[in-house]
Amino acid sequence: MRPIRIAVADGAVANLDWIMPLAKDLGCELVFGPVETVEQFAKTTLDCDGVIVTLQQITAEKLTNKPDSLRVLGRAGVGLDSIHLPTCVDEKITVIFQPLYAMEEVANHALSMILALHRGLFSADAMVRDFQWGPATEVAEIISLQDSTVGVIGCGRIGQTVIRKLQPFVKQVLGYDVNINGPIDGVTMVESLDELLSRSKIISLHTPHLPSTHHLIDAEALAKISKGTIIVNVSRGGLIDESALASSLNTGHISAAGLDVFETEPLAIDSPLRQAKNLILSPHIAWYSKSSGPRLIQWTLLDLFMHLSNKPIKNGAFATGPF
Ligand code: NAD
Repeated sequence: MRPIRIAVADGAVANLDWIMPLAKDLGCELVFGPVETVEQFAKTTLDCDGVIVTLQQITAEKLTNKPDSLRVLGRAGVGLDSIHLPTCVDEKITVIFQPLYAMEEVANHALSMILALHRGLFSADAMVRDFQWGPATEVAEIISLQDSTVGVIGCGRIGQTVIRKLQPFVKQVLGYDVNINGPIDGVTMVESLDELLSRSKIISLHTPHLPSTHHLIDAEALAKISKGTIIVNVSRGGLIDESALASSLNTGHISAAGLDVFETEPLAIDSPLRQAKNLILSPHIAWYSKSSGPRLIQWTLLDLFMHLSNKPIKNGAFATGPF
């Protein structure tokens, strides 16, 4: 019997030292290759039992043209919007993802953006570098954080981690989640998105990107947000209409924003966000730390290996199956 063979999409592992020793210990063969096109996906996964991907689009066409040997797909990450899950079910491909590997990192990134934007740190830095020295009133509209209401949209794993970390800083936390009815400690759950938008001075987005959450924050939603509010999105770019946000930042209606994720990644050269005022950007790195980077790929490989060895998985969760 040949060893378990797992394909790893090009770009899914930043550092081979994170994965090769574990693969050797498990006695598992790894095959690296591109999965961008239908042909590349089929070629890279040929004779493989599993495949590890990160943010590559795994379309219905790729999945229906897969080799017969391919039984499990490991999503090294949390969001499942890049994978056509209904076809995985039809094709009986088990999908395993890793919801727990970086909750703290992602929450810390949101928190860092909120605190930096709220204190106007980026405009303060620019001011000093530009040989200016205040006045403080020109740096940013700094409302005392302890008097502010924060609205968290999507109160799942990461949303609740953000809430726990933010609570000591702020006056009140409002939460909105279509699937959570029960109480969350110290959070005022609101009945509608509109209520959260109109009552919050800082808004942090933590829902998955689904058809129902696409452009959740569009021009209409932005108009319902009170002037001078901060928005942070470390979840998925598709949650926000980027042109509408850029306009709202430029008029000063939204006072500042922080984005780690974008509708198109890398950010398009002609994106209106590049010229928008009071905006801080990061290249989809909220998940990363020196611990979470290796942890993600090691947990993913181990779970695929365990599943293919007919043993319980240790770290992740099933998004489809197990078949
Ligand atoms: P989760 O499933 O635990 O929580 C998501 C919550 O959103 C759920 O409670 C769900 O009920 C809620 N929700 C769904 N639709 C909603 C709607 N229309 N309105 C309000 N709430 C809604 O997921 P999580 O682990 O907290 O992760 C959230 C997202 O974070 C992921 O889907 C992923 O896109 C993103 N993420 C980003 C990074 C990064 O590096 N930037 C890393 C990890 C995860």
